[in-house]
Amino acid sequence: MSSNSSSPVVETGSVATPSGDPRGSITLRDVTQTYGSGADAVTAVGPVDLEVPAGEFLVLVGASGCGKSTLLRLIAGFEPATSGQVEVSGGVPVPGVTSGVVFQQPRLFPWRTVGGNVDLALRYARIPKAERATRRDELLHRVGLDDTADRRIWEISGGQQQRVAIARALAAETSLLLLDEPFAALDALTRERLQEDLRAVSTDSGRTNVFVTHSADEAAFLGTRIVVLSRRPGRVALDLTSPLPRTGATPDELRGSPEYAALRAEVSAAVKEAAAAER
Ligand code: ADP
Ligand code: MG
Repeated sequence: MSSNSSSPVVETGSVATPSGDPRGSITLRDVTQTYGSGADAVTAVGPVDLEVPAGEFLVLVGASGCGKSTLLRLIAGFEPATSGQVEVSGGVPVPGVTSGVVFQQPRLFPWRTVGGNVDLALRYARIPKAERATRRDELLHRVGLDDTADRRIWEISGGQQQRVAIARALAAETSLLLLDEPFAALDALTRERLQEDLRAVSTDSGRTNVFVTHSADEAAFLGTRIVVLSRRPGRVALDLTSPLPRTGATPDELRGSPEYAALRAEVSAAVKEAAAAER
């Protein structure tokens, strides 16, 4: 991820996903998730059916509390679904193996350096010691953080911390990256910059992305596909394929285009309608 979005860094070591290759694909069949039991039972999600081919940039968008994070946790494999099937790359999801995850807060280790945080993820991914320094520098380069390996976490900005979190999630080179409102805590300008860099990197990588947000702007800018969830229990209320090009247009051209404006308006209206709909 280059900090200069007009010249995206070409990824090295990314996972190529030729068509028909299941790596990074997601299948949800009749998935529901219920917390608690008896009178206290809360169904957070479902039933949801969703087929996500490898390489797609799926944005899940919906009002707060509609079950977006729950759905992402199921895809990550952090918890099993109450009913239905969740498959990633054709099998059972395993955290850190079938996907990398980026949360709203960077959740870095403050007593480690920037490089130390990425290093730990590489160790966790069982990258041999001899390769780690090179891989660490590659990852930091990819997220636009050259020459920061020795910096302390508290010395860098919130936007840079979130870049470290993305580098860490990329360490295992999983074919699926899950992002749960990763830019929500950042100021508007930093958020736009990170959106631009993530869009460029994902286009180059062939990796599948699932990005959760409540922002119609963010959804319209980032997604190749946008799924609007209804209010709890979250179900698919709208499933759209973006008409915006992935390459050949600058971020400003994209954001200024009538296609972007129409898409954003459609998503925004669907989110509001889904949130208000009677059950
Ligand atoms: P979103 O990410 O869209 O804001 P969540 O997936 O976090 O929504 O939550 C959806 C609903 O499920 C909420 O009503 C929330 O309170 C409930 N919920 C989520 N996780 C749990 C849990 N571990 N135990 C009980 N209820 C939960
Ligand atoms: Mg959430």
